[in-house]
Amino acid sequence: MAASTKELTANGAKVTTVANGADATAAPPVEPHVTAPPTASTLSSPPHAAVYPAGQCVFGEDWTAATLVAKERCKETTAILTFELPDTSKPLGLSTCACILAKFDRDGSAVVRPYTPISTNAMIGRFELLVKIYAQGAMSQYLDGLQIGSSVEFKHIPFNVKVQYPFAPKVGMLIGGTGIAPMIQALHAILGTADDTTAVSMLYASKVKEDILAQETLEAWAANSEGRFTCHHVLSEEPDGSPWTGARGLITRELIEAHLPAPTDDVVIFVCGPPGMYESLCGPRNEPQELKGILAEMGYTAAQVVKF
Ligand SMILES: Cc1cc2nc3c(=O)[nH]c(=O)nc-3n(C[C@H](O)[C@H](O)[C@H](O)COP(=O)(O)OP(=O)(O)OC[C@H]3O[C@@H](n4cnc5c(N)ncnc54)[C@H](O)[C@@H]3O)c2cc1C
Repeated sequence: MAASTKELTANGAKVTTVANGADATAAPPVEPHVTAPPTASTLSSPPHAAVYPAGQCVFGEDWTAATLVAKERCKETTAILTFELPDTSKPLGLSTCACILAKFDRDGSAVVRPYTPISTNAMIGRFELLVKIYAQGAMSQYLDGLQIGSSVEFKHIPFNVKVQYPFAPKVGMLIGGTGIAPMIQALHAILGTADDTTAVSMLYASKVKEDILAQETLEAWAANSEGRFTCHHVLSEEPDGSPWTGARGLITRELIEAHLPAPTDDVVIFVCGPPGMYESLCGPRNEPQELKGILAEMGYTAAQVVKF
């Protein structure tokens, strides 16, 4: 993991932890309640709840510059970028599963894209983005080429506040590619809270085995969850002769029936992936109140499905 993470941990970064998001709806957690050793919670750390209510993010609705202080390739086409906040004494203060908007100017017009930090509010003065680099991608190519010390403008708008912790007693996650980023946030909150009993099942779709993001993290968190978190992978383009013994193809009704909770009243399903995944599983992302596709056919209701 990035040196920045180790530095923060070694320095004993100040940690503000809220044991239960339901207790934190009105005010920022001014009285830290630390339930785990101080650590900057990222992909290399155990799950760590550091839940902030919506409305506390240090980025508001105006664009604010943050400086790139570290960049690390974690896969051939994926990087972790660490940005320093304008006030290095505070965490980002983002609510669970929310995203921020990044902007740069290209030929006089703004390119804006959403990203979900993988770091939690346990990280002071910085935040981390997990970014998939697309060969033709405007923002991802820009971020990939960014020099340490350069800055990017960010903002956070209320539209990008999604479902808040605590969630339903049973959570199903249908994920593709970098859709893992908001799920890392959710898992930090669920698995990092000592008395939480939420059961989480994830189906994670990638193209080939090498594309699976945060695989070691997910395996470690599942192994230490006492059965509360399970993760199954499905690969769409894994070569036929490879030693992969897991599921192949796309996420299907059969895989959902096998691995996710049935559509009972105590269930919520999170969907986060590329556009085709929404079309197939639940209908377009920009129709949050409408449920179509496989999940509708299986009997889940629109209220039970969160399109990230
Ligand atoms: C709520 C939300 C949170 C997000 N969080 C993250 C995150 O944490 N990390 C992250 O890396 N991305 C995240 N994304 C996606 C991100 O916002 C950009 O869409 C992505 O980085 C591509 O932007 P770009 O400008 O590089 O590519 P664009 O210029 O928009 O696209 C150019 C080409 O890149 C390819 N491409 C772009 N996106 C995809 C895709 N999803 N699947 C396959 N090919 C694609 C296509 O060939 C496309 O034609 C998130 C999206 C949303 C909606």
